[in-house]
Amino acid sequence: MVFVTGIINGSPADKAGIRSGDAILTVNGNEINDVLDYQFYTTEISLSLEVKRGDDILRIFLGKGEYEDPGMEFCTYLMDDKRRCRNGCMFCFIDQNPKGMRETIYFKDDDERLSFLQGNYVTLTNLTDKEIDRIIKMRLSPVNISVHTTNPELRVKMMKNRFAGEVLSFIPRLNEGGIQINAQLVLCRGINDGKELERSLEDLIAFENLESCACVPAGLTDHREGLYPLQPYDRETAREIIDIINKYGDKTVEKYGYRKVFASDEFYLLAEYELPEEPFYEGYPQIENGVGMLRSLTEEFLDELNYTEECSDQKKVIATGKAAYPTIKMLVAKAKEKFPHLDCEVYQIENNFFGKNITVSGLITGKDLIDQLKGKIPEGCFLLLPSNMFKADEEVFLDDVKLRQVKKTLGCIPIISGKDGYELCQKVLLPL
Ligand code: SF4
Repeated sequence: MVFVTGIINGSPADKAGIRSGDAILTVNGNEINDVLDYQFYTTEISLSLEVKRGDDILRIFLGKGEYEDPGMEFCTYLMDDKRRCRNGCMFCFIDQNPKGMRETIYFKDDDERLSFLQGNYVTLTNLTDKEIDRIIKMRLSPVNISVHTTNPELRVKMMKNRFAGEVLSFIPRLNEGGIQINAQLVLCRGINDGKELERSLEDLIAFENLESCACVPAGLTDHREGLYPLQPYDRETAREIIDIINKYGDKTVEKYGYRKVFASDEFYLLAEYELPEEPFYEGYPQIENGVGMLRSLTEEFLDELNYTEECSDQKKVIATGKAAYPTIKMLVAKAKEKFPHLDCEVYQIENNFFGKNITVSGLITGKDLIDQLKGKIPEGCFLLLPSNMFKADEEVFLDDVKLRQVKKTLGCIPIISGKDGYELCQKVLLPL
Protein backbone atom coordinates (compact mmCIF):
# COMPACT_ATOMS: atom_id res chain seq x y z
CA MET A 1 0.00 0.00 0.00
CA VAL A 2 1.23 3.52 -0.80
CA PHE A 3 -0.10 6.82 0.53
CA VAL A 4 -1.18 9.62 -1.78
CA THR A 5 0.19 12.97 -0.63
CA GLY A 6 -1.18 15.16 -3.40
CA ILE A 7 -3.40 15.18 -6.46
CA ILE A 8 -2.66 17.21 -9.58
CA ASN A 9 -5.58 19.48 -10.39
CA GLY A 10 -7.62 18.29 -13.36
CA SER A 11 -5.68 15.00 -13.62
CA PRO A 12 -7.41 11.61 -14.15
CA ALA A 13 -6.96 10.89 -10.41
CA ASP A 14 -8.60 14.21 -9.55
CA LYS A 15 -11.53 13.50 -11.86
CA ALA A 16 -11.89 9.98 -10.41
CA GLY A 17 -12.23 11.46 -6.90
CA ILE A 18 -8.99 10.19 -5.34
CA ARG A 19 -7.89 12.38 -2.44
CA SER A 20 -4.70 13.25 -0.69
CA GLY A 21 -4.37 10.89 2.32
CA ASP A 22 -5.90 7.92 0.48
CA ALA A 23 -3.91 4.68 0.55
CA ILE A 24 -3.74 2.80 -2.75
CA LEU A 25 -3.94 -0.92 -2.00
CA THR A 26 -4.29 -2.48 -5.44
CA VAL A 27 -4.57 -1.47 -9.09
CA ASN A 28 -6.46 -3.89 -11.33
CA GLY A 29 -6.01 -6.52 -8.61
CA ASN A 30 -2.24 -6.05 -8.27
CA GLU A 31 -0.68 -4.98 -4.97
CA ILE A 32 1.09 -1.63 -5.06
CA ASN A 33 4.08 -1.37 -2.77
CA ASP A 34 6.44 0.98 -4.54
CA VAL A 35 7.17 3.06 -7.61
CA LEU A 36 7.89 0.05 -9.83
CA ASP A 37 4.51 -1.56 -9.07
CA TYR A 38 2.82 1.80 -9.56
CA GLN A 39 4.50 2.58 -12.89
CA PHE A 40 3.95 -0.93 -14.22
CA TYR A 41 0.30 -1.36 -13.27
CA THR A 42 -0.93 2.14 -14.14
CA THR A 43 0.03 2.15 -17.81
CA GLU A 44 -3.40 0.87 -18.89
CA ILE A 45 -6.30 3.14 -19.89
CA SER A 46 -8.78 1.71 -17.46
CA LEU A 47 -7.82 1.29 -13.81
CA SER A 48 -9.79 -0.24 -10.99
CA LEU A 49 -8.29 0.94 -7.70
CA GLU A 50 -8.84 -0.48 -4.26
CA VAL A 51 -8.42 2.50 -1.96
CA LYS A 52 -8.36 2.76 1.83
CA ARG A 53 -9.83 6.02 3.10
CA GLY A 54 -9.95 6.15 6.88
CA ASP A 55 -11.60 2.88 7.89
CA ASP A 56 -13.36 2.44 4.56
CA ILE A 57 -12.21 0.40 1.60
CA LEU A 58 -13.44 1.97 -1.66
CA ARG A 59 -13.39 0.81 -5.25
CA ILE A 60 -12.60 3.69 -7.60
CA PHE A 61 -12.53 3.50 -11.39
CA LEU A 62 -10.12 5.76 -13.21
CA GLY A 63 -9.98 6.34 -16.98
CA LYS A 64 -6.92 7.84 -18.66
CA GLY A 65 -4.76 7.74 -21.78
CA GLU A 66 -2.33 4.86 -22.25
CA TYR A 67 0.91 5.68 -20.36
CA GLU A 68 -0.66 8.96 -19.13
CA ASP A 69 0.35 9.77 -15.55
CA PRO A 70 -2.73 9.33 -13.35
CA GLY A 71 -1.73 12.48 -11.45
CA MET A 72 -1.13 11.21 -7.92
CA GLU A 73 1.80 12.40 -5.81
CA PHE A 74 3.61 10.42 -3.12
CA CYS A 75 5.88 11.42 -0.26
CA THR A 76 9.08 10.02 -1.81
CA TYR A 77 10.20 9.26 -5.32
CA LEU A 78 10.40 5.52 -4.57
CA MET A 79 7.08 5.60 -2.59
CA ASP A 80 9.04 3.62 -0.05
CA ASP A 81 12.24 3.99 2.00
CA LYS A 82 15.47 3.80 0.04
CA ARG A 83 17.13 0.43 0.75
CA ARG A 84 20.36 0.61 2.66
CA CYS A 85 23.33 -1.42 1.60
CA ARG A 86 24.02 -4.37 3.88
CA ASN A 87 27.56 -5.00 2.72
CA GLY A 88 30.95 -4.01 4.04
CA CYS A 89 32.98 -4.11 0.83
CA MET A 90 36.74 -4.00 1.36
CA PHE A 91 37.00 -1.31 -1.35
CA CYS A 92 33.93 0.76 -0.44
CA PHE A 93 34.60 4.38 -1.39
CA ILE A 94 32.10 5.71 1.13
CA ASP A 95 34.11 4.18 3.99
CA GLN A 96 37.15 6.05 2.70
CA ASN A 97 35.63 9.50 2.90
CA PRO A 98 37.37 11.84 5.32
CA LYS A 99 35.40 12.41 8.52
CA GLY A 100 33.24 15.47 9.08
CA MET A 101 31.47 15.69 5.72
CA ARG A 102 27.72 16.06 5.12
CA GLU A 103 25.65 13.17 6.54
CA THR A 104 24.27 12.29 3.06
CA ILE A 105 27.81 11.58 1.78
CA TYR A 106 27.97 8.57 4.10
CA PHE A 107 24.62 7.06 3.09
CA LYS A 108 25.05 3.72 1.34
CA ASP A 109 22.14 2.69 -0.83
CA ASP A 110 21.70 -0.61 -2.61
CA ASP A 111 18.27 -0.46 -4.15
CA GLU A 112 17.34 -2.34 -7.31
CA ARG A 113 14.61 0.19 -8.07
CA LEU A 114 17.29 2.85 -8.52
CA SER A 115 19.00 0.54 -10.98
CA PHE A 116 16.03 0.80 -13.34
CA LEU A 117 15.11 4.38 -12.59
CA GLN A 118 18.55 6.01 -12.36
CA GLY A 119 21.03 3.43 -13.64
CA ASN A 120 22.58 2.71 -10.21
CA TYR A 121 24.54 -0.52 -9.78
CA VAL A 122 23.21 -3.04 -7.25
CA THR A 123 24.89 -5.98 -5.55
CA LEU A 124 21.80 -8.28 -5.42
CA THR A 125 22.35 -8.88 -1.68
CA ASN A 126 19.16 -6.95 -0.90
CA LEU A 127 17.02 -8.94 -3.31
CA THR A 128 14.69 -11.87 -2.71
CA ASP A 129 13.45 -14.57 -5.08
CA LYS A 130 10.12 -12.75 -5.23
CA GLU A 131 11.81 -9.56 -6.38
CA ILE A 132 13.75 -11.40 -9.06
CA ASP A 133 10.41 -12.81 -10.28
CA ARG A 134 9.01 -9.29 -10.35
CA ILE A 135 11.94 -8.01 -12.42
CA ILE A 136 11.39 -10.81 -14.92
CA LYS A 137 7.61 -10.42 -14.95
CA MET A 138 7.80 -6.65 -15.47
CA ARG A 139 10.66 -7.08 -17.93
CA LEU A 140 12.65 -4.47 -16.06
CA SER A 141 15.71 -4.37 -18.23
CA PRO A 142 18.61 -3.78 -18.14
CA VAL A 143 19.66 -4.45 -14.59
CA ASN A 144 23.05 -3.05 -13.56
CA ILE A 145 24.93 -5.41 -11.27
CA SER A 146 28.09 -4.91 -9.22
CA VAL A 147 29.42 -8.44 -9.61
CA HIS A 148 33.08 -8.03 -8.58
CA THR A 149 33.68 -11.77 -8.79
CA THR A 150 31.70 -14.89 -9.70
CA ASN A 151 33.53 -16.92 -7.06
CA PRO A 152 30.94 -17.17 -4.24
CA GLU A 153 33.43 -17.54 -1.37
CA LEU A 154 35.56 -14.70 -2.62
CA ARG A 155 32.48 -12.49 -3.07
CA VAL A 156 31.48 -13.15 0.55
CA LYS A 157 34.97 -12.18 1.67
CA MET A 158 35.17 -9.06 -0.51
CA MET A 159 31.72 -7.80 0.42
CA LYS A 160 31.62 -8.98 4.03
CA ASN A 161 28.12 -10.31 3.55
CA ARG A 162 27.41 -14.01 4.03
CA PHE A 163 24.68 -13.90 1.35
CA ALA A 164 26.90 -12.28 -1.28
CA GLY A 165 27.87 -15.66 -2.78
CA GLU A 166 24.52 -17.36 -2.99
CA VAL A 167 22.79 -14.37 -4.64
CA LEU A 168 25.05 -14.90 -7.65
CA SER A 169 22.45 -17.52 -8.63
CA PHE A 170 20.14 -14.62 -9.50
CA ILE A 171 22.33 -13.77 -12.50
CA PRO A 172 21.56 -16.93 -14.52
CA ARG A 173 17.88 -16.50 -13.64
CA LEU A 174 17.84 -12.95 -14.94
CA ASN A 175 19.71 -14.08 -18.03
CA GLU A 176 17.23 -16.90 -18.70
CA GLY A 177 14.37 -14.49 -18.06
CA GLY A 178 15.61 -12.36 -20.96
CA ILE A 179 16.77 -9.48 -18.76
CA GLN A 180 19.79 -7.64 -20.12
CA ILE A 181 22.66 -7.30 -17.69
CA ASN A 182 25.34 -4.66 -17.38
CA ALA A 183 28.06 -5.80 -15.01
CA GLN A 184 30.72 -3.96 -13.10
CA LEU A 185 33.82 -5.50 -11.53
CA VAL A 186 35.74 -3.35 -9.08
CA LEU A 187 39.19 -4.88 -9.12
CA CYS A 188 41.34 -5.08 -6.03
CA ARG A 189 44.99 -5.84 -6.60
CA GLY A 190 45.86 -9.44 -5.75
CA ILE A 191 42.28 -10.23 -4.66
CA ASN A 192 39.88 -10.62 -7.61
CA ASP A 193 42.27 -10.13 -10.52
CA GLY A 194 44.59 -12.68 -12.22
CA LYS A 195 43.00 -16.16 -12.32
CA GLU A 196 39.95 -14.92 -10.40
CA LEU A 197 39.32 -12.25 -13.02
CA GLU A 198 39.63 -14.87 -15.77
CA ARG A 199 37.08 -17.03 -13.98
CA SER A 200 34.64 -14.13 -13.54
CA LEU A 201 34.88 -13.02 -17.16
CA GLU A 202 34.59 -16.60 -18.46
CA ASP A 203 31.41 -17.03 -16.40
CA LEU A 204 29.92 -13.68 -17.34
CA ILE A 205 30.48 -13.84 -21.08
CA ALA A 206 28.65 -17.18 -21.15
CA PHE A 207 25.41 -15.26 -20.46
CA GLU A 208 23.98 -14.19 -23.80
CA ASN A 209 22.08 -11.38 -22.10
CA LEU A 210 25.23 -9.87 -20.65
CA GLU A 211 25.23 -6.57 -22.53
CA SER A 212 28.43 -5.09 -21.18
CA CYS A 213 30.95 -5.45 -18.40
CA ALA A 214 33.24 -2.73 -17.04
CA CYS A 215 36.34 -3.49 -15.00
CA VAL A 216 37.50 -0.57 -12.88
CA PRO A 217 40.29 -0.33 -10.30
CA ALA A 218 39.19 0.17 -6.69
CA GLY A 219 39.53 3.85 -5.81
CA LEU A 220 41.89 4.10 -2.84
CA THR A 221 41.94 7.30 -0.84
CA ASP A 222 44.36 8.32 1.92
CA HIS A 223 41.65 7.63 4.50
CA ARG A 224 41.81 3.85 4.85
CA GLU A 225 42.74 3.62 8.53
CA GLY A 226 41.35 0.38 9.94
CA LEU A 227 40.21 -0.88 6.52
CA TYR A 228 41.45 -3.90 4.57
CA PRO A 229 44.99 -3.19 3.32
CA LEU A 230 44.68 -2.74 -0.45
CA GLN A 231 47.45 -1.77 -2.85
CA PRO A 232 46.90 0.49 -5.87
CA TYR A 233 47.63 -0.84 -9.35
CA ASP A 234 50.84 0.27 -11.04
CA ARG A 235 52.00 0.22 -14.66
CA GLU A 236 52.83 -3.49 -14.82
CA THR A 237 49.79 -4.78 -12.95
CA ALA A 238 47.49 -2.50 -14.99
CA ARG A 239 49.00 -3.96 -18.17
CA GLU A 240 48.29 -7.50 -16.94
CA ILE A 241 44.69 -6.52 -16.23
CA ILE A 242 44.20 -5.01 -19.68
CA ASP A 243 45.63 -8.15 -21.31
CA ILE A 244 43.12 -10.36 -19.49
CA ILE A 245 40.17 -8.07 -20.15
CA ASN A 246 40.93 -7.70 -23.83
CA LYS A 247 41.37 -11.47 -24.19
CA TYR A 248 37.77 -11.91 -23.00
CA GLY A 249 36.61 -8.85 -24.94
CA ASP A 250 37.99 -10.50 -28.09
CA LYS A 251 36.13 -13.70 -27.21
CA THR A 252 32.84 -11.78 -27.09
CA VAL A 253 33.59 -10.24 -30.48
CA GLU A 254 34.06 -13.78 -31.84
CA LYS A 255 31.00 -15.22 -30.14
CA TYR A 256 28.49 -12.36 -30.28
CA GLY A 257 29.88 -10.10 -32.98
CA TYR A 258 30.62 -7.21 -30.63
CA ARG A 259 32.76 -6.36 -27.61
CA LYS A 260 31.14 -6.68 -24.22
CA VAL A 261 34.05 -6.49 -21.79
CA PHE A 262 36.07 -3.33 -21.22
CA ALA A 263 38.80 -1.94 -18.98
CA SER A 264 38.15 1.56 -17.67
CA ASP A 265 40.21 4.53 -18.87
CA GLU A 266 42.03 4.55 -15.55
CA PHE A 267 43.67 1.19 -16.33
CA TYR A 268 44.92 2.54 -19.67
CA LEU A 269 46.34 5.63 -17.98
CA LEU A 270 48.06 3.54 -15.31
CA ALA A 271 49.41 1.18 -17.97
CA GLU A 272 50.62 4.15 -20.03
CA TYR A 273 48.85 2.71 -23.07
CA GLU A 274 47.15 4.70 -25.82
CA LEU A 275 43.38 4.67 -25.42
CA PRO A 276 41.63 2.41 -27.94
CA GLU A 277 39.97 3.98 -30.97
CA GLU A 278 36.27 4.83 -30.95
CA PRO A 279 34.88 1.66 -32.68
CA PHE A 280 36.45 -0.44 -29.90
CA TYR A 281 33.94 1.02 -27.43
CA GLU A 282 30.82 -0.17 -29.29
CA GLY A 283 28.84 3.01 -28.66
CA TYR A 284 30.17 3.49 -25.10
CA PRO A 285 27.72 1.32 -23.09
CA GLN A 286 29.88 1.72 -19.98
CA ILE A 287 30.83 5.39 -20.23
CA GLU A 288 29.29 6.11 -16.81
CA ASN A 289 31.85 3.70 -15.35
CA GLY A 290 34.69 5.64 -16.95
CA VAL A 291 35.03 3.33 -19.95
CA GLY A 292 35.85 5.31 -23.08
CA MET A 293 35.13 8.67 -21.48
CA LEU A 294 38.42 10.18 -22.64
CA ARG A 295 38.10 8.72 -26.14
CA SER A 296 34.58 10.08 -26.44
CA LEU A 297 35.67 13.51 -25.16
CA THR A 298 38.51 13.56 -27.69
CA GLU A 299 36.36 12.61 -30.68
CA GLU A 300 33.64 15.10 -29.79
CA PHE A 301 36.11 17.93 -29.22
CA LEU A 302 37.93 17.29 -32.50
CA ASP A 303 34.63 17.03 -34.37
CA GLU A 304 33.53 20.38 -33.06
CA LEU A 305 36.94 21.91 -33.72
CA ASN A 306 36.69 20.77 -37.30
CA TYR A 307 33.42 22.63 -37.81
CA THR A 308 34.27 25.79 -35.91
CA GLU A 309 35.66 28.70 -37.87
CA GLU A 310 35.90 31.38 -35.20
CA CYS A 311 37.88 31.79 -32.03
CA SER A 312 37.59 34.49 -29.40
CA ASP A 313 40.64 36.20 -27.88
CA GLN A 314 39.31 35.95 -24.33
CA LYS A 315 41.68 34.63 -21.69
CA LYS A 316 40.62 31.16 -20.56
CA VAL A 317 41.85 28.56 -18.10
CA ILE A 318 40.68 24.95 -17.78
CA ALA A 319 41.05 23.14 -14.46
CA THR A 320 40.84 19.36 -14.43
CA GLY A 321 41.95 16.25 -12.56
CA LYS A 322 45.15 14.35 -13.20
CA ALA A 323 43.35 11.66 -15.26
CA ALA A 324 41.93 13.97 -17.92
CA TYR A 325 44.80 16.47 -17.90
CA PRO A 326 46.97 14.97 -20.70
CA THR A 327 43.93 14.54 -22.96
CA ILE A 328 42.62 18.06 -22.43
CA LYS A 329 46.09 19.54 -22.83
CA MET A 330 46.45 17.68 -26.14
CA LEU A 331 43.02 18.93 -27.31
CA VAL A 332 43.83 22.54 -26.47
CA ALA A 333 47.15 22.17 -28.33
CA LYS A 334 45.18 20.95 -31.39
CA ALA A 335 42.88 23.95 -31.09
CA LYS A 336 45.96 26.23 -30.94
CA GLU A 337 47.27 24.67 -34.15
CA LYS A 338 44.09 25.83 -35.88
CA PHE A 339 43.78 29.14 -34.00
CA PRO A 340 47.27 30.27 -32.96
CA HIS A 341 45.91 33.30 -31.07
CA LEU A 342 43.82 31.09 -28.76
CA ASP A 343 44.65 32.09 -25.17
CA CYS A 344 43.83 29.00 -23.10
CA GLU A 345 45.87 27.18 -20.45
CA VAL A 346 45.13 23.85 -18.78
CA TYR A 347 45.85 23.28 -15.06
CA GLN A 348 46.04 19.95 -13.32
CA ILE A 349 44.54 19.83 -9.83
CA GLU A 350 45.99 17.27 -7.43
CA ASN A 351 43.49 15.68 -5.10
CA ASN A 352 44.83 16.54 -1.64
CA PHE A 353 41.44 15.96 -0.06
CA PHE A 354 41.13 12.26 -0.92
CA GLY A 355 44.77 11.57 -1.82
CA LYS A 356 46.98 11.32 -4.89
CA ASN A 357 45.48 8.04 -6.10
CA ILE A 358 42.18 9.79 -6.79
CA THR A 359 42.63 11.40 -10.16
CA VAL A 360 39.15 12.06 -11.57
CA SER A 361 37.92 15.64 -11.86
CA GLY A 362 34.54 14.67 -10.34
CA LEU A 363 36.15 14.29 -6.90
CA ILE A 364 38.07 17.57 -6.81
CA THR A 365 37.04 19.82 -3.95
CA GLY A 366 36.63 23.58 -3.99
CA LYS A 367 39.43 23.94 -1.43
CA ASP A 368 41.94 22.04 -3.57
CA LEU A 369 40.94 24.09 -6.60
CA ILE A 370 41.33 27.41 -4.81
CA ASP A 371 44.59 26.44 -3.03
CA GLN A 372 46.22 25.26 -6.23
CA LEU A 373 45.11 28.08 -8.55
CA LYS A 374 45.50 31.02 -6.18
CA GLY A 375 47.98 33.53 -7.56
CA LYS A 376 48.58 31.39 -10.66
CA ILE A 377 45.76 32.23 -13.05
CA PRO A 378 45.33 35.65 -14.67
CA GLU A 379 42.95 38.09 -12.96
CA GLY A 380 39.59 38.30 -14.76
CA CYS A 381 40.09 35.16 -16.88
CA PHE A 382 37.34 32.67 -17.58
CA LEU A 383 37.84 29.51 -15.54
CA LEU A 384 36.26 26.44 -17.20
CA LEU A 385 35.27 23.73 -14.75
CA PRO A 386 33.68 20.38 -15.67
CA SER A 387 30.10 19.97 -14.46
CA ASN A 388 30.94 16.73 -12.65
CA MET A 389 32.89 18.76 -10.05
CA PHE A 390 29.54 19.97 -8.73
CA LYS A 391 26.59 18.48 -6.95
CA ALA A 392 23.73 17.88 -9.41
CA ASP A 393 22.10 21.17 -10.42
CA GLU A 394 23.94 23.13 -7.74
CA GLU A 395 26.95 25.39 -7.90
CA VAL A 396 28.51 23.70 -4.88
CA PHE A 397 31.61 21.48 -4.68
CA LEU A 398 31.79 18.21 -2.78
CA ASP A 399 33.22 20.01 0.26
CA ASP A 400 30.38 22.57 0.25
CA VAL A 401 32.59 25.34 -1.16
CA LYS A 402 30.38 27.47 -3.40
CA LEU A 403 31.24 28.56 -6.91
CA ARG A 404 30.94 32.20 -5.89
CA GLN A 405 33.76 31.66 -3.34
CA VAL A 406 35.98 30.49 -6.22
CA LYS A 407 35.06 33.61 -8.14
CA LYS A 408 35.78 35.90 -5.22
CA THR A 409 39.02 34.27 -4.10
CA LEU A 410 40.58 33.71 -7.52
CA GLY A 411 39.24 36.88 -9.14
CA CYS A 412 38.10 34.92 -12.19
CA ILE A 413 34.81 34.21 -13.94
CA PRO A 414 34.01 30.54 -13.37
CA ILE A 415 32.06 28.78 -16.11
CA ILE A 416 30.64 25.29 -15.72
CA SER A 417 31.20 23.22 -18.81
CA GLY A 418 29.11 20.13 -19.58
CA LYS A 419 31.07 16.93 -19.71
CA ASP A 420 30.89 16.34 -23.44
CA GLY A 421 33.64 17.37 -25.81
CA TYR A 422 31.38 19.43 -28.08
CA GLU A 423 30.53 21.80 -25.29
CA LEU A 424 34.08 21.96 -24.00
CA CYS A 425 35.33 22.91 -27.48
CA GLN A 426 32.68 25.61 -27.85
CA LYS A 427 33.52 27.03 -24.43
CA VAL A 428 37.24 27.06 -25.31
CA LEU A 429 36.78 28.72 -28.68
CA LEU A 430 33.69 30.88 -28.64
CA PRO A 431 33.14 34.15 -26.76
CA LEU A 432 31.67 33.62 -23.28
S1 SF4 B 1 27.75 -2.18 -1.88
FE1 SF4 B 1 29.81 -2.17 -1.07
S2 SF4 B 1 30.79 -0.51 -2.19
FE2 SF4 B 1 28.60 -0.23 -2.43
S3 SF4 B 1 27.99 1.13 -0.77
FE3 SF4 B 1 27.73 -0.94 -0.03
S4 SF4 B 1 29.65 -1.43 1.03
FE4 SF4 B 1 30.02 0.35 -0.25
